[in-house]
Amino acid sequence: MKLYEKDSYLTTLKTTITQQGTDEYGNFVSLKDSIIYPGGGGQPADRAWIQAIPVTKIQKNENDVRYYLKEAPNNLPQQVDIQIDWAQRFDLMQQHTGQHILARVCEDLFQVRISKEQITLTDSFFEIDTKLSPTQLQTAIARSNEIIRAHKSVFILFPTEEQLKKETLFTTPPKYFAGLRLIKIADFDLIGCGGTHVQNTAEVQGIAFTQIKEHKKGMTLHFTCGNRLFQQFESNQKQLATLTKATQVPITGLTAFFKEQQEKIDTYQQRLAAYQVQTLITTAKEIAPNFVYSEATTANVKELQQAARKLAEIYPLALICTATKSDDTLRYHLTCLKENSKLPIGQLIKLSNQKFGGRGGGSALKGDGTLPYSQKEAWLHFLQD
Ligand SMILES: [Zn+2]
Repeated sequence: MKLYEKDSYLTTLKTTITQQGTDEYGNFVSLKDSIIYPGGGGQPADRAWIQAIPVTKIQKNENDVRYYLKEAPNNLPQQVDIQIDWAQRFDLMQQHTGQHILARVCEDLFQVRISKEQITLTDSFFEIDTKLSPTQLQTAIARSNEIIRAHKSVFILFPTEEQLKKETLFTTPPKYFAGLRLIKIADFDLIGCGGTHVQNTAEVQGIAFTQIKEHKKGMTLHFTCGNRLFQQFESNQKQLATLTKATQVPITGLTAFFKEQQEKIDTYQQRLAAYQVQTLITTAKEIAPNFVYSEATTANVKELQQAARKLAEIYPLALICTATKSDDTLRYHLTCLKENSKLPIGQLIKLSNQKFGGRGGGSALKGDGTLPYSQKEAWLHFLQD
């Protein structure tokens, strides 16, 4: 019997092993009764132990549920003790009930459609098919916390069709609800669900958004509830305290502070890029007639290209090569103003790839490539010829 479906608060159980064996996933047992949520419906499986041996995997089959054990279950008694990680389970119950509340609030207030509900050990979220404004989102979270504070009972129902007719929460409860496991939050929500929930909304403690992701047709609402909300708040506050201490800026000023820092970094990066280009230009040498070469230590591709363009203006008849060393690789850019009578640059790079183990390509007038730095001298001779 799935006892977790009737009572989410069972943390230990003595039950009988009905089957024991080994299959492709390892050593497993099946149980007469279980308090271990096997996962599903967007809620992860419980962390659990059977006779103090950790359960590593739970597999739901058509006729049985197999609990795979970390160690070979040698000499397991017929009667075994089951235990679940209650802290983790209760956290999931808080998230799951919070999800029911927030989803119902969003449906009622803004007529959204909910999909892709998911709860993990670190994140809870669902998708809605509408984009809500910041004010609407604020209203949804405020209303959800009102429901939590209202101390509403959460019931587990397995109604017959007759009993379902008496459910007055919806004027016409969907017929398919009959016989299903339903979760009812007092006068507020009734929905089919197989997961585990707290028995009173007050136990959710509180709910807050952690992230709102917009997409083309709607949004994903990430939220957190209960103990997890307080733990995350505390952890975030600690990190903010470290930042405010390091920057000497109050929390409310951090966004502006980092924006300003980023602008400074951008300015310095632009200056550095200009400096790199200038260095490549001033140190360029015509190492052979109509062949100009320049190498800088830390230039990037864009800077190599910029410098080459400027050098081509200075040496309009020459083949220009700008290059940089990164690790054991020579990264280069080739350009010329007029098509080289002997070979287009793209062809030249192709030959370089073949002869010197390089990579890259280009058009008639320019191209980029790399080759092992050890091949540099030989390659430069090849280009001069
Ligand atoms: Zn549920």
